[in-house]
Amino acid sequence: MVESEQDVALEDTDRIEGRSALVNNTNATLALASAVRSTLGPRGSDKMLVDENGEIVVTNDGVTVLETAKVEHPTANLLIATSSAQDRIARDGTTTSVLLTAELLRNALELSRIGVHPTIIINGYQIAAEESLSQLDEIARDASDEDLMAATATTMAGKIDTTLAETMTGLALEAARALENEEGGDDLERIRIKRLKMTGGVAADSEIIHGLMLRKQRLDFTTDGHSNGGKIAIIDGGLENRELELDAQIEIRSTGVLSGFQERKSAKLAEQVASLSSLGVDLICVRDGIADEATPLLKEAGITAYRRFEQEDLERLSILTNAKMVRDVNRISADDVGDYSKRSADKIDDAWHVRIDGGRGAMTALLRGTTPIMREEVNRAFDDALGVAFRLVREPKVLPGGGGTQTHLARHLRSFATTQKGREQLAIEGFADALEVIPRVLAENAGLDPIDEILALSAAQAEHGAWYGLDAMSGEKSDMGDSGIQDPLFVARQALTGATEAAITVLRIDDVLWAHVEPKTPDWSNQIDDD
Ligand code: ADP
Ligand code: MG
Repeated sequence: MVESEQDVALEDTDRIEGRSALVNNTNATLALASAVRSTLGPRGSDKMLVDENGEIVVTNDGVTVLETAKVEHPTANLLIATSSAQDRIARDGTTTSVLLTAELLRNALELSRIGVHPTIIINGYQIAAEESLSQLDEIARDASDEDLMAATATTMAGKIDTTLAETMTGLALEAARALENEEGGDDLERIRIKRLKMTGGVAADSEIIHGLMLRKQRLDFTTDGHSNGGKIAIIDGGLENRELELDAQIEIRSTGVLSGFQERKSAKLAEQVASLSSLGVDLICVRDGIADEATPLLKEAGITAYRRFEQEDLERLSILTNAKMVRDVNRISADDVGDYSKRSADKIDDAWHVRIDGGRGAMTALLRGTTPIMREEVNRAFDDALGVAFRLVREPKVLPGGGGTQTHLARHLRSFATTQKGREQLAIEGFADALEVIPRVLAENAGLDPIDEILALSAAQAEHGAWYGLDAMSGEKSDMGDSGIQDPLFVARQALTGATEAAITVLRIDDVLWAHVEPKTPDWSNQIDDD
């Protein structure tokens, strides 16, 4: 069939729209990437962000910068989602994934300008990503204890001072190891470890407690605060008899028989306490309230009670002591009761704290700092370190940091490209070039000449292999294993796949999504680089 003139014209329009969408999307991505570029690496600068309420946030963290931004561009939002996913899955590498996505798109646009079709680019990128992933496995090494420390500390480089980073690395690895054989999903380390900010002491005095510590005082001070072990019941509700009270309101209004109601209520509570006592329980933790009438009954039964818990803390207690969360105290059975090995009640920093030790599975991080701001910072640092340490312990493989990994991949892909067919070669080379954004920006942020550094690093790798990278603090090229600059394999892998997927998604958009709405490129004018 002969193409009509109209068809040809339509095709042209499509192509132009496709290209202009790519130009537009790439520009949005580059704008976003330029907002986080200066934060990369240990010499990255902090960003000062001003939100719409005039609140100021100072951060060195890519994902924080992006999540604080108000962005309306769909592609920019895709990029933010990619970096959030990176944060959720790997807890690190967010800036890297954003820079990589932007660079992949920049190079794709260049290729499309010289006539390479998006489908070919997508193919080439997929081949390159796959080859890169297998190279990552090739150069990754099994992490020794020292490597685990180094990789966790590298995560915090430039974010906090080195001494604090060391303390947090130690705590995070201690906690991560204790969770090593526990089952659970992505958020396990957040669920199982309670963070308690303490006012006394300095950051370096922070510690992990292999038990649960909560800021709470017991219901009745005349009951035992300390014990060397016993049985615990966790009540997922109250010890109150709400039902009876509701009935009573009606009853009292109509008949006014108050004393009868009180008696029935006490009898019911006595039954409940008796059933706890018959199971040998000497400690109860109650999510809601405890009726006043229950206090003397509990004391008589030798039961120490704590009330008003957050759900998360009860869950941690349940894991720690193997006690089930019971809704209805009347139906409690021996199966529901848990064991603890020790408990204490002490006044610390002017507040009562209860500490309950049990088997395994739940911990408390006591995070100390002299000021609220310091405690916040310690908390954030612990969170960063723990997220990475927890995953590292599960997959103890590390890669060279300091741009070493990406330089190796770029070098490898360039020679690999020659084994591939035709135009895909160009896309694979474009992928290789994009990877070099990491060493380039690391050098840039360290005040070094990026071109010289990339050439020198490439030459150093030709001689010494993939583990050579750029130490941004000294400016020297060295073995990243010896220098302790290491990135976890799972961080690099996620950054690579996340960025490739995001770039490909954008490349597949062949029309402008927002049709008649004028797309907005993010406005970064409210940011100041804070060197
Ligand atoms: P991201 O959000 O991607 O994790 P970061 O600002 O944390 O961004 O920077 C991470 C990068 O910094 C990694 O590539 C890591 O290897 C590199 N890096 C960390 N410490 C050093 C160092 N001392 N010298 C060179 N590169 C480093
Ligand atoms: Mg990082």
